[in-house]
Amino acid sequence: MTTTDSTTESTASTQKPKHTDLASKSFDAIVIGSGMGGMACASALAKFGRKVLVLEQHYVAGGFTHTFSRKGFTWDVGVHCVGEMEENRIPGKILKWLTEGQVKMQSLGSPYDFFVFPDGLRVNLPDNSKDFRAELLKHFPEEKEAIEKYLTLVREAANSVKTHLALRFLPMWAEKLLAPIVRRTKLKWWGKTTKEVLDSLTNDERLKGVLAGQWGYYGSVPSRSSFAMHAVTARHFWNGGYYPVGGAEVLSKHILAGVTRTGGEVRTRAGVETILMEGGRAVGVRLKEGTEVRAPLVISAANAKTTVSEILPEEIKERAWAKEIAGLTQSPCHICLHIGTEGDLSETEATLANHWYMETYDMEWADWDVADPKSIAPVLYVSFPSLKDPAHDGGPTNRQTGEVVTFVPWDAFEKWSQTRRGLREKDYMAFKKDIEERLVAQLKKHLPKYMSKVVFHEMSTPLSTTFFTRSFHGGIYGIEPTPARFAATGLRPKTPVKGLYLTGSDVGTLGVVGAMVGGIFTAASIEPKVFGALGISSKKAKSGRQAAAKSASGSPQRPSPERDAGVAL
Ligand SMILES: Cc1cc2nc3c(=O)[nH]c(=O)nc-3n(C[C@H](O)[C@H](O)[C@H](O)COP(=O)(O)OP(=O)(O)OC[C@H]3O[C@@H](n4cnc5c(N)ncnc54)[C@H](O)[C@@H]3O)c2cc1C
Repeated sequence: MTTTDSTTESTASTQKPKHTDLASKSFDAIVIGSGMGGMACASALAKFGRKVLVLEQHYVAGGFTHTFSRKGFTWDVGVHCVGEMEENRIPGKILKWLTEGQVKMQSLGSPYDFFVFPDGLRVNLPDNSKDFRAELLKHFPEEKEAIEKYLTLVREAANSVKTHLALRFLPMWAEKLLAPIVRRTKLKWWGKTTKEVLDSLTNDERLKGVLAGQWGYYGSVPSRSSFAMHAVTARHFWNGGYYPVGGAEVLSKHILAGVTRTGGEVRTRAGVETILMEGGRAVGVRLKEGTEVRAPLVISAANAKTTVSEILPEEIKERAWAKEIAGLTQSPCHICLHIGTEGDLSETEATLANHWYMETYDMEWADWDVADPKSIAPVLYVSFPSLKDPAHDGGPTNRQTGEVVTFVPWDAFEKWSQTRRGLREKDYMAFKKDIEERLVAQLKKHLPKYMSKVVFHEMSTPLSTTFFTRSFHGGIYGIEPTPARFAATGLRPKTPVKGLYLTGSDVGTLGVVGAMVGGIFTAASIEPKVFGALGISSKKAKSGRQAAAKSASGSPQRPSPERDAGVAL
């Protein structure tokens, strides 16, 4: 078996190019960051003839959708399972539009996920809500009433995402005025925690553990997460999960092609130091290497907390909206074990479905106290990306990839956060190696046959995450989806600074689709025809805003139980 002490940060040349030629070029917009949010926004604007410059600090574009390779294996970083990719769903439509139909999403089938609990209970998450209901009732027949009520509340809460996003289109003052009233009616679930809602439904701690089990997809435990975010995520997967054919890298390849096709550019190793201001409006950016580039629109697709702590000019950092964002909590950070196997996996535990090995029913036990040598990870999320990809060719030795994610505290890694990759101290390398060995030992208990096929593994840490995405404190999903996040008015596409916009998952909801929707919303707030092109007519967008206003006037709209509005709109 081969292991390596380098993290997923390593390999590419560290040579920093100069982008001085950009100073004399003209662009309609500059997008800072090439994650799903930045790509979607840039590509949507390019479809309406805008010449967009995308600046990415990493040496490869894609943000959390980028991939990396070692010893003949290629892993994605942040794309394991994406919902609502059916063509009649808005997220599926958006992806098709952005990629000109070049990206195919492969269904993981049924189940797409399953949980294994310490007492041996295995709960499958099937690819339709009818079977999901049946699965819950099979394991908890005496909890029928709680289950039925839960499913109804999930629908109701998830439907309100439309109103939540529509409010973000109003000027900030109007949202501030409307939000308290709308929250009492339409948005009530955004202000309640998942725990509050589950506690109101049942006393069965095992059922609560099962219902909250997918909290890892939104990175906030039941006592902290907004129930609406829980509901949006739960329903996001009610029709199952998907994986991009060809691996996650196809996303940046085909979305960014839309940017360059119309004369835009994508530059990597182009970290933005700050936003240039003139007469109170954003007029461009200064790169870390000193080049200044100008454009009438500047869109930060970097993590929102990174934007307000690192990129905004000092005078803007002090504005109330920026301070509001700075005061929100970040989602937890993670480690990921990237695994390479050889040989036949058909006799092992590996499947297309993602495995959640829970060491407890207590979903408040969030992260692994890695500093304690006796501790174990409370949950292991295991997936097998190459098995999901019908285009994968394992070669003569059948090379396949696996990934294991679990949450860890930032504090455990923080003291090394100012050290440079490749030059980290011996104590860090020893700490990291120890965690990796303990993780492998824990995995062997759950996947003994699969682990016998492992020929390579390498672990990424929160320091890897900060290196390749600059995510504040290595947060896995940006800002934590707490009630406070959804009450904050600063997280919106259009900032109070003229010419300055935000985008990405912090502006949308969460995950790959949340970031993509954030990108579309920001593009639409600049170019409203974006909605029309997606079949979300401006009339419908307007009626969304009217729904918000109507709710405010005390006549809430009844959610349609049949229609899954989905994570996005
Ligand atoms: C291990 C893991 C597993 C995940 N699994 C899933 C999953 O299965 N399904 C799902 O839906 N989601 C998943 N996610 C989450 C999902 O990948 C992200 O939420 C989403 O991709 C975030 O997109 P974004 O555009 O908001 O941000 P990012 O992808 O973080 O993009 C921000 C970009 O800005 C760049 N940047 C930052 N600062 C600067 C600067 N100063 N100058 C230039 N560039 C800058 C960064 O380098 C980065 O490329 C996962 C994430 C992780 C880490």
